[in-house]
Amino acid sequence: MFEVPLQPRSLEQLAEVIPQDRIQRLADEIAPRMREMFEGKNIINVNSTDKGGGVAEMLHVLLPLTLGTGVPTRWFVVEGDPVFFTLTKRLHHRLHGNKGDNGELTTVEQGLMSGVVARNAPELLQKVSPGDVVILHDPQPAPLAPMLKERGIAVVWRCHVGVDKDNEYTDEAWGFLRTFLEGNVDEYVFTRASYAPDWVPPDKLRVIKPSIDPLAPKNQDLSESDILGALSGAGIIKDGGFGSASFVRSDGSTAPFTMKAEIVRSGEAPTMDVPLIVQVSRWDPLKDMAGVMHGFIEHIADRSDAHLMLVGPSTASVSDDPEGQQVLDALTEEWRALPHDVRDRIHLVSLPMDDPEQNGALVNAIQRHAAVVTQKSLAEGFGLTVTEAMFKARPIVASAVGGIVDQIDDHVSGILVSDPRDLEMFGHAVVEVLENPDFAERLGAAARQRAIDVFLPDTSLDVWNETVASALRLAAEGD
Ligand code: UDP
Repeated sequence: MFEVPLQPRSLEQLAEVIPQDRIQRLADEIAPRMREMFEGKNIINVNSTDKGGGVAEMLHVLLPLTLGTGVPTRWFVVEGDPVFFTLTKRLHHRLHGNKGDNGELTTVEQGLMSGVVARNAPELLQKVSPGDVVILHDPQPAPLAPMLKERGIAVVWRCHVGVDKDNEYTDEAWGFLRTFLEGNVDEYVFTRASYAPDWVPPDKLRVIKPSIDPLAPKNQDLSESDILGALSGAGIIKDGGFGSASFVRSDGSTAPFTMKAEIVRSGEAPTMDVPLIVQVSRWDPLKDMAGVMHGFIEHIADRSDAHLMLVGPSTASVSDDPEGQQVLDALTEEWRALPHDVRDRIHLVSLPMDDPEQNGALVNAIQRHAAVVTQKSLAEGFGLTVTEAMFKARPIVASAVGGIVDQIDDHVSGILVSDPRDLEMFGHAVVEVLENPDFAERLGAAARQRAIDVFLPDTSLDVWNETVASALRLAAEGD
């Protein structure tokens, strides 16, 4: 286990994006309440990666803000080996209602998971004491729940994944996790109420929507010249003599874009005026990058001059996702077999993660340059990439699955494709946006407004407060 260093961040910094009345309420009401409640106590978060994926992304946003309100906040990361992550990936798939690999989820796997987590545990257990609250994120650290409960520590389990409808796979995965969680967790937090299994007591179930950091390198405003400079410097678009580009790091310093993308392509890089259809996702079967590619080939390529850019993290760098390389390899193989003319318009882009802030800034530039952003996931816990594109006023075409339907109001703040496997419907929606610039602009503007109204970090602090306070109360009562 290792600790992720956190720098406190003041909420006032967000005043340039969050409306003044909301900032005022935070400063006058919420922050003082939090400081009083947590005097002498720690909030400790535990997950399984500090980079790549939505959970790490969100913790990088919320934890510095919590620390900035004066509440001692720490973040620990559970370390595991490939066997552990293969198992937790299996759980992840089954919680989404899919089989994933052919492996089992029996008491043998439970023992394996507990063993790995138990080897991580001493470092955490030395640092917590009764009165602290530990927030465990997702399945990976779940075996810590009984160990913490035994010591009288308040435990919150935050589940970022799920599906609305149960099936044999979700039942199997929930049965597996139940052993670790039931009776050991004081409060459960889900992205949607429908994701919770029926053994979670309704009075311990909270619903909290994720949020994004508007000033992070991933979302901050970028000038057109910085966007073009970053993209051409990375090799993503053709160099048009745009010059150097920079972004602002979270510590306030300005940094030049120096990152090169790893790109699978056969033709030339597109020039700046070629419309780009962009999907940014981990290389995961549920993100259906292959489906986006086939939708493009079969229903978009002939009807527009756009190029397709499928963008994900460099597979060498995401340790808790062993499937990434396989998915990218399979996609590359399919891509290689395509006829030249269409293949030249499809670019598979991997972004190095060794500098996560610059990676985020490059994702930012890519999303801002996109003519259409897609998120054609087959299942999606929430889908932060959608929120990110909404905040950037992009027109979005996304599957009507999971948390995406809580974000996009169909044909108002984006387009929802009701059947995520319907390539024709998907292609049609993308072409509709490409052909109608006014419509695209209206969708983008509504999306941005909705992101500001609902998905900025201040909107979840209230519920987090209540959740953590209640967990502390229940733990103190020995419930
Ligand atoms: N992401 C990134 N670099 C990449 C690909 C993805 O920073 O190369 C980020 C993306 O911008 C988003 C997060 O990873 O913030 C993915 O979160 P999401 O909720 O969309 O999906 P998850 O990966 O959690 O299933």
